[in-house]
Amino acid sequence: MSAPPRRLPVLEPPAPLLALPARVDGPPLPPWEHAPTVEWQICGQCNYDCSYCIQSPKHRVGYPTRERLDRALAALAALPGAWEVKMTGGEPFSSRLFLDHIVPGLRDTPHRISVLTNLSAPERQLLRFAELTRGRLAVVSASLHLEFTDVPAFLQRLGALRGAADPAARIVVNSVLVPDRLAEVRAARDQVEAAGFRFFPQLMKVKRGLYPYTPEQLELVRAIVGDLDAAARLRSANLAPSYAGRTCYTGARYFVLLQDGEAWSCRSARRYGEGRLGSVVDGTFALAPGPVRCRYPICPCTVPANRGMIEGVPMRPSLAADGADA
Ligand code: SF4
Ligand code: SF4
Repeated sequence: MSAPPRRLPVLEPPAPLLALPARVDGPPLPPWEHAPTVEWQICGQCNYDCSYCIQSPKHRVGYPTRERLDRALAALAALPGAWEVKMTGGEPFSSRLFLDHIVPGLRDTPHRISVLTNLSAPERQLLRFAELTRGRLAVVSASLHLEFTDVPAFLQRLGALRGAADPAARIVVNSVLVPDRLAEVRAARDQVEAAGFRFFPQLMKVKRGLYPYTPEQLELVRAIVGDLDAAARLRSANLAPSYAGRTCYTGARYFVLLQDGEAWSCRSARRYGEGRLGSVVDGTFALAPGPVRCRYPICPCTVPANRGMIEGVPMRPSLAADGADA
């Protein structure tokens, strides 16, 4: 059977390449507004087992030792200037060191704190997180996984966190457009928005690309996302576009730090075994000396785009609705 036709948005061609500034101290900065950001996988373990998880169960395990976490914290503390440190997993709250050691450790750095969580943690832990991150919290990206929770229980926890967290912190609900659950996702969107939260849908990813939705499924996707071209333009959904050919400051002003201490310039690069920045464990970690030209078919995570890493894609902090775990 041939693959069904997909009508996903085509992005405008890259703008002409801009002249890049000369390197001064450390990597050159983008000649446009951006927010340096690291996505730190603080553990591999997750208490859920979503059927669509892009991390295979065999890799979705493990907690780094306290010593390894301290090396990561030391490397993060040494980054030039104030960054946003977005913690991911697995599920960050599943690590007993998360609230007892990791978040307090980040408070000793100049960085802002964000988290991507499935929001399954008990309310008392969420309230403690709000307390610990007071004055430093940037974004909570709460993933709604309908295979493991129902919307009222999720919204109950989210409401508790919203009430306790910094008023200026952004809280966004993301959910994967799971092909056989699209009606459920649509109903969830309505409930989430009725509760006053932003809902950020994501196309489902498989291996190195996007799930090939059937035309019928794409109709349901449009019922949730709206017009796909408009969603691509407004970045109101994660459509995992391609930015191939554009200059990207990943590696220099954005990177991914894994639980084993290995750092990579971006998720796509790592999938292709490229963009390794060394290890915080053996002290070889170093930021890339400059930007790269993207050569990957999709940009799966919205963080580099929304933080201003990519040529022709302006920083949109208010759209920092990420969901790189799914
Ligand atoms: S998608 Fe997120 S919550 Fe679900 S199993 Fe994977 S890491 Fe856990
Ligand atoms: S995939 Fe995205 S983050 Fe990675 S180099 Fe390309 S544009 Fe940059």
